[in-house]
Amino acid sequence: MKHPHLLSVLLPININYPFTYSCTEALEIGTIVKVSFRNRELYGVVWSHEGHLTNFDKQKIKPIITKKIGDDCLTLPADLIGFLEWVSNYYMVPLGLALKASFKKQFFEKQAKKKIYYTFNPAHASKITQKQETVIELLRVNGALEKNRIISMTGHSNDLIRRMIRKDILKEAVSFIELEEKIYLETDIDFTPEQICAMEEVITSLKKQKVTLIDGITGSGKTELYLEAATRVLRQGKQVLIMLPEITLTQEFIKIFRSRFKNQIGEWHSGLSEAKRRQLWFDILNKKIRLIVGARSSLFLPFIDLGLIVVDEEHDQSYKQEEGMIYNARDMAILRAKQLKIACILSSATPSVETFENIVSKKYSRAVLKKRFYGTNLPTISCIDMRKAKKETDSFLPIELIDDLKKTKDRNEQSLIFLNRRGYSPLSICGNCGVRVDCPDCDAWLVLHKNASKYKCHYCGHTQQSDIKCKNCHSSDKIIQTGLGIEKIDEELNRLLPDMSRVIFSSDYLQSPDSVSRALKKITENEIDLIIGTQLISKGHNFPSLTYVGILDADFGLEVTDIRASERTYQILNQVSGRAGRVKRDSKVKIMTHMPDHPLLQSLINNKKHEFYNAELTIRNTSRMPPFARLVAIIISSKNRKILSEFSQKLAIANNFPKDVELLGPIEAPISRMRKYYRQRFLIRGPKNCNIQFYIKRWLDSIKLPPQIRITIDVDPQNFL
Ligand code: ADP
Ligand code: ZN
Ligand code: ZN
Repeated sequence: MKHPHLLSVLLPININYPFTYSCTEALEIGTIVKVSFRNRELYGVVWSHEGHLTNFDKQKIKPIITKKIGDDCLTLPADLIGFLEWVSNYYMVPLGLALKASFKKQFFEKQAKKKIYYTFNPAHASKITQKQETVIELLRVNGALEKNRIISMTGHSNDLIRRMIRKDILKEAVSFIELEEKIYLETDIDFTPEQICAMEEVITSLKKQKVTLIDGITGSGKTELYLEAATRVLRQGKQVLIMLPEITLTQEFIKIFRSRFKNQIGEWHSGLSEAKRRQLWFDILNKKIRLIVGARSSLFLPFIDLGLIVVDEEHDQSYKQEEGMIYNARDMAILRAKQLKIACILSSATPSVETFENIVSKKYSRAVLKKRFYGTNLPTISCIDMRKAKKETDSFLPIELIDDLKKTKDRNEQSLIFLNRRGYSPLSICGNCGVRVDCPDCDAWLVLHKNASKYKCHYCGHTQQSDIKCKNCHSSDKIIQTGLGIEKIDEELNRLLPDMSRVIFSSDYLQSPDSVSRALKKITENEIDLIIGTQLISKGHNFPSLTYVGILDADFGLEVTDIRASERTYQILNQVSGRAGRVKRDSKVKIMTHMPDHPLLQSLINNKKHEFYNAELTIRNTSRMPPFARLVAIIISSKNRKILSEFSQKLAIANNFPKDVELLGPIEAPISRMRKYYRQRFLIRGPKNCNIQFYIKRWLDSIKLPPQIRITIDVDPQNFL
């Protein structure tokens, strides 16, 4: 009998080490194999050639079930394996969980159908009918397309296309390389002198494989610049990944990319069907698709020849995954690029403070765009001082705002009212006894959503009917709504300006990609006078008729709740303002505030971006906060309050950190209970270059974890709730 080879196989489960299996032959590292594990069949990855010590009992070692996926063996790229190891170490997540981010079992169960692309065969010898000519014309423009796409794009029958294939008028496209010339060279963009200058900077860092920030105001051509960079890299035959925040991955945005890159482009986001995902995954591994536009998880795709990563809106919070495997996709994109020795382009009008620091310290290079392409000015920003402002009769809205909205409509232009609060009112109180309507599972108030006739918890999603009785005194007709949500703004504007057509742009109203598309279309075509939006509106979209933005209740963001509060507020106010006047001149932004002299608002009004960033860096530096120090948050939670506080005390006492690493806490978390779990927080702070993960691991390993306790580790935390 042949001596079996031992393999350690990593499984995509919540365990930090691989398991040992045997195989009749040695398999390459990275090979995907099917194995049996605790009575389940799982797909795992050959991680190393030795058995893993933790379950090294030769008698018990099982052979793998199969190494064939469909007809072939599949191997993950070596750099992906290195990357997953790094992610696991850095974010202190089990290696198996990191692996889970890169494929799904379903990808391998059914065999993916092979995609066949057809292209025009100039060597054919048949007569061409008029209908056939339209197909050929389509393929001239698009290079190559799948049969079904040809059918849907021309409206011709399946038979007609089949006949063309039979007659050799269409032939199977061998690979995209063959179509290269046709596909990428079609840009008719002439860069402005400023853009040329910035592009040179980008090209230099492509050559030097550096990280570059395209730092430009909204509408200055950042997207055009990185698309040009992507085109250059695609021309070298390599793959390109463009990452976008999930919510900007709308059809509108994809359309721009598609018009440029035709069928070369694949989209990767949470809305995809399983079948599409699988197809794309294989297409990337086989390099059939070379340009991927994706949300944060696209970072874990099996690129075989990646040449560039772009992170658009690099400051965006949605790059941070806050559940399951907690990681920051922006940071990991930079890391993956570094490991691959390729360039990484970040793009933002309001970079993160970390990125700004890396520019100041010359670690990253910067390409600057200061002018809007259409020659329009940035909007003039001013404040409406709510301490003095005259209000409309019986209203909380200032007369000035209402006047502005009317005037904007009179010019046949569009306005946006921004308030970053979903629902009708954030706080409901019983008028009889003063008790608040709160979530049964969280330490949080319920928010009334009138459109759904429900109260919703914004932390756990719990809902209850809006006609509830007070849980304390059972009175049913005295619940008082206080505070502002966008639904209340909508109601008020409907009362004051009934002739204006409005749309509410928030996640509660636009739940499907289709409804977002429909709303965007109406806005772009100027069928809407007034947009009322949450932060969902602040990203990416181009609204040609929008010339007025009113920002309500900016004070909310000016209160310093955590170290990132000012940065976040600055970014969001800037982004929202940037929606205005992209095409038309003379746009205005008015911020309603009780603190018009606040330095943050002053930097914004006077367009002193560097002033804001420098002040922020000084604060971070003197208070020893990131990017000048490292932070890791540990959240301990349990359904049992007593066990939780005992365990946190134990952890505090077990503090075995070196002198320069501080253990702060435990404190009760600001949301002290969430989804029935009580929560306490520690914060660990260390110098910039220390191996903080090592110390944390040593500390946590020194104490036995009771079964009722959960620990969440958040490296480089963004939120402190
Ligand atoms: P940003 O990403 O900085 O907001 P975009 O790249 O989206 O800016 O550019 C704003 C608008 O100007 C887009 O419609 C874009 O197509 C157009 N644009 C920018 N630069 C050029 C150029 N050099 N030639 C033609 N159109 C351009
Ligand atoms: Zn809740
Ligand atoms: Zn009551």
